[in-house]
Amino acid sequence: MQRVLESAAFILGPEVAAFEQAFAAWCGAAHCVALSSGTAALELALRALEVGPGDEVITVAHTFIATAEAISAVGAQPVFVDVDPCTYTMDPVALAAAVTPRTRALLPVHLYGHPAGMQAIEQVAAGRGLALVEDAAQAHGATDRGARVGSGAHARGLRRIACFSFYPGKNLGAYGDAGAVTTNDADLAARVRLLRNHGRREKYLHDAVGFGERMDALQAAVLGAKLPHLEGWIAARRRLAARYSRLLTGLSLERPTVAPECEHAWHLYVVQTPHRDALLAHLRAAGIEAGIHYPVPLHLQPAYAPLGYRLGDLPVTEALAATCLSLPLYPELSDAQQDRVVAALRGFFAGGTDGTA
Ligand SMILES: *Cc1c(COP(=O)(O)O)cnc(C)c1O
Repeated sequence: MQRVLESAAFILGPEVAAFEQAFAAWCGAAHCVALSSGTAALELALRALEVGPGDEVITVAHTFIATAEAISAVGAQPVFVDVDPCTYTMDPVALAAAVTPRTRALLPVHLYGHPAGMQAIEQVAAGRGLALVEDAAQAHGATDRGARVGSGAHARGLRRIACFSFYPGKNLGAYGDAGAVTTNDADLAARVRLLRNHGRREKYLHDAVGFGERMDALQAAVLGAKLPHLEGWIAARRRLAARYSRLLTGLSLERPTVAPECEHAWHLYVVQTPHRDALLAHLRAAGIEAGIHYPVPLHLQPAYAPLGYRLGDLPVTEALAATCLSLPLYPELSDAQQDRVVAALRGFFAGGTDGTA
């Protein structure tokens, strides 16, 4: 940060270029374009693909709203499909059924750090010539068939781009807002690079009507300093997730599962119980912070009422929204702290607080 202050190069510049190179290499991708947020990454990815009014983009409703906002922002229509009950990510069968002649792109989300079922999703995309935009905001370091999310491996000739967020709470977090795209498609990378900086070819020569969505150098310096630790932090998350799964055996909680072709990045450790609200209150009373990701699915959000979805349209998504609970998980969580969380969970189920005893 001192280096940035002394250089007085606060937007883009060598610090941002160095981070782009380092993050592309970390993901195993040819290109990384650093941006102002994960939301900007999603929006500029869609713009680079020239998705716009009249187009449909298929995504999920069990995600953070930024996923769908990006589709709306470019003037296209989000089409919500249900998720798989085991991985909580896009259901490829529902996806295939939702494709129409207006579908231009697929936008799966690697939710909680678990990669979506990309093999099946790639098949749908390849069969119909659709672009693939991956919401990897929660999945830095997750792997699919041996390749890191965002590597662009298995592209199968598709136009494919991954969108990352470095929001402070993400697996790799900045000291403010930041994001990036990674891709092996040089044209797509160049297009995002142009759009993020006012469509600039030169300082005052503009090839496109663009945006101000650049990463600032202080964030790049922070991210560059943190990146060498990311693998270790994800390893700590993996160890703690495995420990939760072991310690929670026998409780009437549904524990997360990992598809055999994937490695989870464990942004969140999410359990399911029909007694979610009572359990959340019990944990909070014990001074334990847990979260709900996410309580209201996007197809039922007031903001998306004009799309005309109704309760019952996406049953797996709706059931998850009512039963999911994210337990405390971060690399610095100690075994003793985790034991306290587990004891509180056991106390809840042993005490009959849930009405089952
Ligand atoms: C965090 C997040 C985003 C948005 O990222 P920002 O950097 O906050 O704009 C998009 N999608 C998902 C799934 C996220 O978790």
